[in-house]
Amino acid sequence: MRKILFIAATHGNERDGVKVMRQLEKELPKEKYGYDCIIGNEKAFSANTRFTEQDLNRSAPGDINSSIYEVRRAAELIEYGKNFDVVIDLHGTKTDSGIVTIIPYPTEENIRLAKSAGLSRNVVWYSEKSKIAGPLAQHMPVPAIEFECGPKGTKKAFDLTYAAVRRFIEANRSGQEVCGDKNVEFYNVYGKLYGEHDPALRDFVLTEKGGESFYPFLSGNEYSGIVCYKMEKTENDKMFI
Ligand SMILES: [Zn+2]
Repeated sequence: MRKILFIAATHGNERDGVKVMRQLEKELPKEKYGYDCIIGNEKAFSANTRFTEQDLNRSAPGDINSSIYEVRRAAELIEYGKNFDVVIDLHGTKTDSGIVTIIPYPTEENIRLAKSAGLSRNVVWYSEKSKIAGPLAQHMPVPAIEFECGPKGTKKAFDLTYAAVRRFIEANRSGQEVCGDKNVEFYNVYGKLYGEHDPALRDFVLTEKGGESFYPFLSGNEYSGIVCYKMEKTENDKMFI
């Protein structure tokens, strides 16, 4: 049985993951099921904000001696991750995206981890510059991915996150992969669309703008000036780095 670490509220205002883990802790005892969970950004969670000084998910690998809280916290979390075999970082978005995996660092073992979660949609979101300061999952010393779920703060997001995390824990205990959707799709984020929010866009529904066809992602996001991220569908065996 792999030891799993779940991180919730890496962004302090994405609270569904914390609620889900508190519920699951009561139903599936952590010691028996071989997992632990930790709040990523404790200060931002207390204040119900995305972050306090800078985005924790753009602060890894971090520095334990930094004057910036999130940079220190990133280093602590990376160090804590060494005690586990896999790490799942739970996120939420305003967008009605359903639940997907995000793979910030598409190595063969991280792709395999994403597949083992049994979710039908998997998003590779890798950027070269994140090697210096990037997502927690990219810099973990063990295989690590994110679950992204929206719209955050809704029953739908709680239920989807709860079901995905529960299935993952139970499958891990029985030593099997999750038997999920057979239609597993991989997408690759390759750019972003700038401008004002476009209510016509739907995540994962092919769209065309200015002669370019792409799949939108996070089309109801909170990033000012970004309409959505642009994705292409991809064969998962072509993106190992
Ligand atoms: Zn997030």
